[in-house]
Amino acid sequence: MPQVRVRFAPSPTGPLHIGGVRTALYNYLFAKKNKGTFILRIEDTDQTRFVEGAEDYIMESLRWCGIVVDEGIREGGEHSPYRQSDRKEIYKKYADKLVDKGLAYYAFDTPEQLEAIRLEYEKKGTTFNYNSEVRGKLTNSLSLDAVDWNARLDRGEPYVIRFKMPVDEEVHFEDIIRGQIVVNTSTLDDKVLFKSDGMPTYHLAHLVDDHLMKISHVIRGEEWLPSLPLHILLYRAFGWETPLFAHLPLLLKPDGKGKLSKRDGDRMGFPVFPLFWPYDETAKGYREEGYYPEAFVNMIALLGWNPGTEQEIFSMDELIDAFSLERVGKSGSRFDPEKAKWFNHQYLQKRSDSRLAMEFREFLREKGFHIDIVRLEMLVSMVKERVSFVKEFWSQTDFFFKAPEAYDLEAVKKRWQENTETILGELKEVLRGIDDFSPLPLEAAVKSWIESRGYNMGAVMNPFRLVIVGSLRGPHMFDIISWIGKGETIARIEKGLSLIGKK
Ligand code: GLU
Repeated sequence: MPQVRVRFAPSPTGPLHIGGVRTALYNYLFAKKNKGTFILRIEDTDQTRFVEGAEDYIMESLRWCGIVVDEGIREGGEHSPYRQSDRKEIYKKYADKLVDKGLAYYAFDTPEQLEAIRLEYEKKGTTFNYNSEVRGKLTNSLSLDAVDWNARLDRGEPYVIRFKMPVDEEVHFEDIIRGQIVVNTSTLDDKVLFKSDGMPTYHLAHLVDDHLMKISHVIRGEEWLPSLPLHILLYRAFGWETPLFAHLPLLLKPDGKGKLSKRDGDRMGFPVFPLFWPYDETAKGYREEGYYPEAFVNMIALLGWNPGTEQEIFSMDELIDAFSLERVGKSGSRFDPEKAKWFNHQYLQKRSDSRLAMEFREFLREKGFHIDIVRLEMLVSMVKERVSFVKEFWSQTDFFFKAPEAYDLEAVKKRWQENTETILGELKEVLRGIDDFSPLPLEAAVKSWIESRGYNMGAVMNPFRLVIVGSLRGPHMFDIISWIGKGETIARIEKGLSLIGKK
């Protein structure tokens, strides 16, 4: 294999969709697996679609995911600059070269003229394509005589440069994921390579850059596959060697019908972007929703690629080791928001209690609670298994921090019996007499009292939980009361008795 050099080449037109992150990730994994170079190139030749903040967003998303850029607009590199608008001067001569070779031509048709023709075709129920059939009747350097079009150029009349698509020729090419493909050029039009604003189009710019930057493999979204025959012909026109191509399948909506969009996320309550997007139409991000970057990366890695084994949990190094383009599927991958949560759950379970305690402490600080880290570790270990996100520790443990303000009425109706007040009154005294308030001695003492009194276990423990927690949820009772302490336990029993008792 040649020296592997791949690029991720987003256009800064808004927040980076998770499909884009996946493209970046696959490029990165492929580069690292093959001891190659990962390049970030910003493709901003379409000035009308440029969005402020998008470039930083792209770079921050990659950084958050742990995708390290070897050459890019910040990192620099041998082939600087890496932003196409900064490379503006480079492209024109390549377009001119094709005109000189007779493989491209100047076209002077104004947007208004083209629009009028388009409408005419539409009225006839057909679609207008600027192609070999019509180019002779339009205003360009093929249809006009040389004196005329040269005069137009001299006058500074606006023009575009179009590729002269060969007539009725079969283009054969290969895609690593899709295999052999054959397309007849009669289905293709004369694409614009260079625009009247002095900027190249995507087709010309990316190809010139891929060539100059010595890109070995072009790994990008499937939406570019229809343009590949044009690109192959352009390589041929320039006399350049083509890189290898791999077009990645689409990310599909959870129901599998169509491309995953922001609207699906909004409708179903999950983000389709890695980070929060703060501009105009804001959008949720995985980072701000509490996902760990490792979980997010693991999840998107498996959307389209499979390792060929049952293994689902992969660190970045393991992904690099296992990745191959041959194991990327041809068909679209359905996005599953529940699976995304599942991945985060798995990564949270793998985290140490002390690390989780630190993460939860941050959350609590914002709520105004300052809790000793050792005590938080105990808490975290009690409820960890029920939690998929750090923020969920709060809903699982809020009653550790404050006495219930209300009681679950359904549970009260079911569990509060004739003798409950007597039982809880006695229990309060039993607890008052216990010096070692750690879980095991507490449990032993309370259970032996229950036995000695001949009470039913549930008749004691259910109302006990109700007055301490406010409902019947939560971890082991003796872990809870040990954590909140004797004074608080007794106070909660008294509060419960006074509030529920008088029903
Ligand atoms: N700028 C193109 C995009 O954002 C990149 C396509 C390619 O990788 O060639 O989709």
